[in-house]
Amino acid sequence: MSDWFSVTTPIYYPNAEPHIGHTYTTVVADTLTRYHRLAGEKTFFLTGTDQHGEKITEVAAAAGESPSAFAARISALFEQTWRDLGLGFDRFIRTTDPDHVRAVQHVLGVVHEAGDVEFREYEGLYCVGCERFLTERDMVDGLCRDHERAPEPRSESNYFFTMSKYFDWLADHIRDHADFIRPERYRNEVLAMLREGSGLEDLCISRPKSRLDWGIELPFDRDYVCYVWFDALINYLTGLGYPDDPDWEKRWGGVEHLIGKDILKPHGVFWPCMLRAAGIAPYRHLSVHGYWNVDERKVSKSLGNMISPGAMREKYGFEAFRYFLLRDMSYGLDAGFTEELLVTRVNADLANNLGNLASRTLNMTARYCDGRVPEPGETGDLEREVADATARAADEVDAAVRALEAHRALESIFRAVDAANRYLDARAPWKAAKDPEREAEVRTTLYTVCQSLRGIALLLAPFLPEAAATLLERLGIPDALATARLPEDAKRWDALAAGTATTKGAALFPRIESPAAE
Ligand SMILES: [Zn+2]
Repeated sequence: MSDWFSVTTPIYYPNAEPHIGHTYTTVVADTLTRYHRLAGEKTFFLTGTDQHGEKITEVAAAAGESPSAFAARISALFEQTWRDLGLGFDRFIRTTDPDHVRAVQHVLGVVHEAGDVEFREYEGLYCVGCERFLTERDMVDGLCRDHERAPEPRSESNYFFTMSKYFDWLADHIRDHADFIRPERYRNEVLAMLREGSGLEDLCISRPKSRLDWGIELPFDRDYVCYVWFDALINYLTGLGYPDDPDWEKRWGGVEHLIGKDILKPHGVFWPCMLRAAGIAPYRHLSVHGYWNVDERKVSKSLGNMISPGAMREKYGFEAFRYFLLRDMSYGLDAGFTEELLVTRVNADLANNLGNLASRTLNMTARYCDGRVPEPGETGDLEREVADATARAADEVDAAVRALEAHRALESIFRAVDAANRYLDARAPWKAAKDPEREAEVRTTLYTVCQSLRGIALLLAPFLPEAAATLLERLGIPDALATARLPEDAKRWDALAAGTATTKGAALFPRIESPAAE
């Protein structure tokens, strides 16, 4: 197996500004990258934008711009947004990048050579929104099911990728690899698409330049450009260095595609068939998430409920928003966002629970132990319980992250936070400190919660990188992440040496007092 973990987001379509859906996928990719890197794996994080296609020419025309100027402008906005939010991609790809154009033409050449491309006359109903000819199943009352607009009758000669010859192979591959497409519901959806009579056929992969010249030219017929999906999917190869970078195959061996459920068909069917035709091994995982509903409605431009990540940062801080996204969506299912839910979640978990543990521990360490991690006295069952809770969280986080269950990972971490808070309440060092004979007990208590906080901060680092860094700094170990290995290092008790200087600092997550909706 590859020792690489290479995560991809879809290349976003720059016909709108970054919203909650894009932000979610990118945040999950960033979190997974950070975790796998701390687990000692080599990582690569790829994101970017899809520049081509008929839809872009439409919205660009409406904005009075050329397709290239329009796509470049919105792409730059995406790239800058992820940079500003500290989402650490290794490459931001644009499908107009010269190496991508080369990679697409290379794949087209290989697939053509292999005899998997045919020139055919085609007559049918075409939806501009979908950028393809529709079948009966795609329509309701004569309108495109997805776009609720009437398709146009069109007749065209085009190149077809004879994808259907790979359907049996693909169905077998999916049956043989339980986690190839996950969660299971999407695996079953793809198997249903591949069943005979589902209406899925060969894929038209060209557009005549006479009606669309915004795209990548076919290497075997210069009168045509490549269909946008065929072009877009290949970004996952280009971005990892295909075909020239010597490391591309190693990176590809550990590839994890993250997508939303709206683009299951191209990723679950087109893409593995394309890879097969090009003689490339299938991807390792396709992991499909649900939709965010905002104020109980689907996110849409016309409803104005897109939720800008920049606005969330201004109002609540990005880590609060990031925490909500990771904690409140179960990967694969739809989830709901409202500002009230965010405020409730952040106050309960981050301000009251984690924030309270950190401030109590650090304040009492300052007051009773001169701001240094104390030398512990005798330990007993209560101390062992806290250590066990932290170790258990470390193992659970590792399993949950590998199963794409960030919300469960966070639940586990917060069970460890609960355990430490309960322990602190049980020992009540603020009372014990009044009795000089219980001085050793106070030291043991604060030593124990300091160790626990260290483990918690390490585990939180992939999810809340800024807060975790702040916490480690206050515990006097600002460089802990540089050498840490997860999950083992989070379980190491006594790793925070007695005598280490700690600092109190301001509230890690101030309680949000203002009403959410103003
Ligand atoms: Zn449509």
